[in-house]
Amino acid sequence: MYLCLRCFYVSPRESALCGRCGRGLGGRRCPKLHKSPPSALVCTRCGSPDLTQAAPCLPLTWLAQSLAAGLVMLGLRFLIGHFPLVFCATCRASAAIPAWLFQTTPMVVWNTCLRLVTWLALLWTFSHFLPGESGQKLRSAMGWALKGLWRLGSRVTSWLWRTLIAPRPVKKEQGQKP
Ligand SMILES: [Zn+2]
Ligand SMILES: [Zn+2]
Repeated sequence: MYLCLRCFYVSPRESALCGRCGRGLGGRRCPKLHKSPPSALVCTRCGSPDLTQAAPCLPLTWLAQSLAAGLVMLGLRFLIGHFPLVFCATCRASAAIPAWLFQTTPMVVWNTCLRLVTWLALLWTFSHFLPGESGQKLRSAMGWALKGLWRLGSRVTSWLWRTLIAPRPVKKEQGQKP
């Protein structure tokens, strides 16, 4: 798409001449539509003196692409500039699901998580002061518990993912049959 800067008419991408004022887009055109520079007096390819006027034009696809690129850059800039804000929003959203599951507020979930982490850290530190192998046993038990929690979390996430995505493959199969 080209915008004629003389009459501000938008012509399709493959057009050589402006659809309203008939000027050559980006250069002068002979009857065979060869493109010559705006300063040419005869066609630079066939020598025809019958040239249209030239009109400066703006390629709109390029403009749209650069606008899209600019928007992406602005979005990235916003994300980087407001990273703590975005991070907080993500954390709040991730706390909202357990809060909904346990019918509490996200703040309670956060406090519980923080308390749990603090207790685990304290227990971890404490395990180093235990005599003999009992400290190591405690640490390995904690490791197992954390692994189990992680597995449970990932299983719940994948289950949620599957239940949310599940209708899609059914639709695809239906679409492929006819
Ligand atoms: Zn025009
Ligand atoms: Zn020509």
